[in-house]
Amino acid sequence: MSAETIEQRIQRAQSLRLKRMLWGFANHGCTGLAVAGLYLGGFLPLAPVLVFFASSVLISTLMVLILQFGINLRFRDPSMTMAQITLPVIPSLYVMYFVALPQGRILFLLLATGGLLFGALALNRRQMFTIAWLFWLGYLVLVLILTWQAPDRVYWPLEAVTLFAYASVLSILAYLGSFISQLRSELSMRNRELKHANLELVELATRDPLTSLPNRRTVMEQFEKEVARSDRQTEGTKALGISVLDIDHFKKINDTFGHQAGDEILRKVSRTIEATIRRGDYVGRIGGEEFLLIFPDTAPDHAIPAAERIRRAVSALRFDELPESYRVTVSQGVAIHQPGETVENNFKRADEALYQAKNSGRNQVVMG
Ligand code: GH3
Ligand code: MG
Ligand code: MG
Repeated sequence: MSAETIEQRIQRAQSLRLKRMLWGFANHGCTGLAVAGLYLGGFLPLAPVLVFFASSVLISTLMVLILQFGINLRFRDPSMTMAQITLPVIPSLYVMYFVALPQGRILFLLLATGGLLFGALALNRRQMFTIAWLFWLGYLVLVLILTWQAPDRVYWPLEAVTLFAYASVLSILAYLGSFISQLRSELSMRNRELKHANLELVELATRDPLTSLPNRRTVMEQFEKEVARSDRQTEGTKALGISVLDIDHFKKINDTFGHQAGDEILRKVSRTIEATIRRGDYVGRIGGEEFLLIFPDTAPDHAIPAAERIRRAVSALRFDELPESYRVTVSQGVAIHQPGETVENNFKRADEALYQAKNSGRNQVVMG
């Protein structure tokens, strides 16, 4: 499983946002080139061109600063998609007012529409249509102001057709864009669900549901790994120790106090073993009331004390389900792995030692 911290996830999201922002700037850059072209062709006076560039640079700088200082993380939409699409259109609308030819204005409509496509990355249908209508209204207001202030630059039959065409294109884009956006969010939701289901499957396949301890297969796999690791380390004084632990007279506990009480005891004994073993040691449930403990990198004469600590911890437990004076005890068979010995043989020696512990009166640890 990937262990990405929250900090790293935020960092990754921020750099993705910056990348999207730069794509947005590329779009505004094209508008800038068009403005420069109109200026060079004599269709635009210098002053509004300068205002256009100054305000565009100002808006872009502001956006980058907001992102760099993480201010956007406090917004409801940290990607600032609405603002990124709409704000750069304001300088465009402004400079359009000064374009001498009606045809020259059309290209701004084209470029602003391109910006709307960024909405497909994040916006819902309502937001997409809001932006689309804002664009359309912006253009309508511009043409109305021009009709009032500079009627010679407005040819209404053409403007009416343009407004109609613009409304259609914007509607289609808003609809398709929000459809893509919805698909994206559904896909990422499915992805999350799938990841969650995967985690649950791993949990089911590797854990014992009653005690939440690693199940037989998992603890045996771990044992095999530790044996291989131990065989690779030919030098040193540390060895691999294991203990097969079995609760004493568990059948009697079940028969006397009920199966449910038995389950509760299994859970509490499991928690106690987990809490008593060292970090790096390992425990799993290998059968009904049997557990396998693995003590890697243990000095051979430390395996018995490690197992003894667990035996004492369990025998000191009190259970609500049992009479006050009742003690649950465990027997254990310990075996130190011999270099080159098979996993099966190693386990068999520990199991035989457990058998001896049972025969010698239980509640004890025997070395195999
Ligand atoms: P010994 O001291 O020789 O180990 O005796 P014992 O009674 O503990 O051993 P035995 O193998 O005869 O009985 C084990 C019992 O554990 C029998 C079984 O019903 C019970 N058991 C196995 N799994 C579970 C479980 O998940 N929950 C409960 N409550 N009991 C279980
Ligand atoms: Mg038993
Ligand atoms: Mg048993």
